[in-house]
Amino acid sequence: MLVDLHTHTTASDGALSPVELIERAEKAAVRHLAITDHDTVSGYQAARAWCSANDCELNLWSGVEYSCQSHGATIHVVGLGMDCEHPAMLAGLSVLAGAREARCEVIAERLAKKGIEGALVGARAHADGAQIGRPHFAKFLVADGHVPDETAAFKHYLGAGKLGDVKAFWPELDQVIEWIVAAGGVAVLAHPLKYRFTASKLKRLLAEFVAAGGQAVEVLSGRQSVQDFDRLLRLAREFKLLVSVGSDFHRDARYSADIGVDVSALAAHGTVWDALSSAYSGGV
Ligand code: AMP
Ligand code: MN
Ligand code: MN
Ligand code: MN
Repeated sequence: MLVDLHTHTTASDGALSPVELIERAEKAAVRHLAITDHDTVSGYQAARAWCSANDCELNLWSGVEYSCQSHGATIHVVGLGMDCEHPAMLAGLSVLAGAREARCEVIAERLAKKGIEGALVGARAHADGAQIGRPHFAKFLVADGHVPDETAAFKHYLGAGKLGDVKAFWPELDQVIEWIVAAGGVAVLAHPLKYRFTASKLKRLLAEFVAAGGQAVEVLSGRQSVQDFDRLLRLAREFKLLVSVGSDFHRDARYSADIGVDVSALAAHGTVWDALSSAYSGGV
């Protein structure tokens, strides 16, 4: 069985429209799918409408990938199965939209100080109504000839520790978990090894995540080694968390995973898709 509970569309920084993503997942026979755009559910909502009108076979779950912070580090928490009209959800999404707007102004000011003008207008044009983020600044920097490609844009201007790495605007970890849980969803700690924490810092994060009401952890995200998968499964057991999986698909690229994760190796574990399926029938 194929499951994918972490994907992006043009509503944030993905290349496929919500309908294109659904069509691709249907073709691959993905059973459970979540669209988890950064800090927005508009891609999910467009996909939901299309699925309802077209009798999709797959179970589409509502999803979001919230940006937040813990001890000064940026952390991503995936929310699944929320009621997207719940006041807690609307409040959370509105806070994050405001945070992204304020943050992109700071990024543009910092670039201007380095002699790069017009970044705000440029990034907004590349976002084209999507939830704006660093990838749209990367596109602007390439199009304006400041760097040869988006990888170089992150390496020189936007990546960890560079001027565009502005995290001060994100809400705290426990706040986003509270929004997700209040709206009836399950909070999933996204790609735990991407933060490059020491073993003890990662355990502190997991302990705080559980204490705040988090219920699941991604044990497979994008392309990953067997060792990392085993390590995450052990952590899931230790912290009594449900397991989740996702490709973190943004676009077809040489080093990216395709949509759909084979979950046969997880038969003995408590999974987030089983928990969602018993709480609701046929997606939300
Ligand atoms: P933001 O949410 O605005 O902080 O942007 C983060 C997004 O940028 C991530 O979700 C990735 O999709 C993308 N990203 C992060 N690092 C890189 C990188 N080194 N090269 C290309 N894309 C990146
Ligand atoms: Mn992204
Ligand atoms: Mn992420
Ligand atoms: Mn993601």
